[in-house]
Amino acid sequence: MSKKLVLSELQHASAVGIVCGACGCRHLSVYRTVNQENKIIRYRKCRHCGKTMTSVERVIRK
Ligand SMILES: [Zn+2]
Repeated sequence: MSKKLVLSELQHASAVGIVCGACGCRHLSVYRTVNQENKIIRYRKCRHCGKTMTSVERVIRK
């Protein structure tokens, strides 16, 4: 049994498995969040190389 690690600033990206496409690091910070009707768009920026990328989060219903 392992204790749960305390998530720090890394949780934003690493928790959802997003990796920088340029340098491969997981240090992506969200600099902008847009809420739409049924989804959330997050604009992220790599802390290491500065590359930006966008992720979408949405609800999937059955
Ligand atoms: Zn990067």
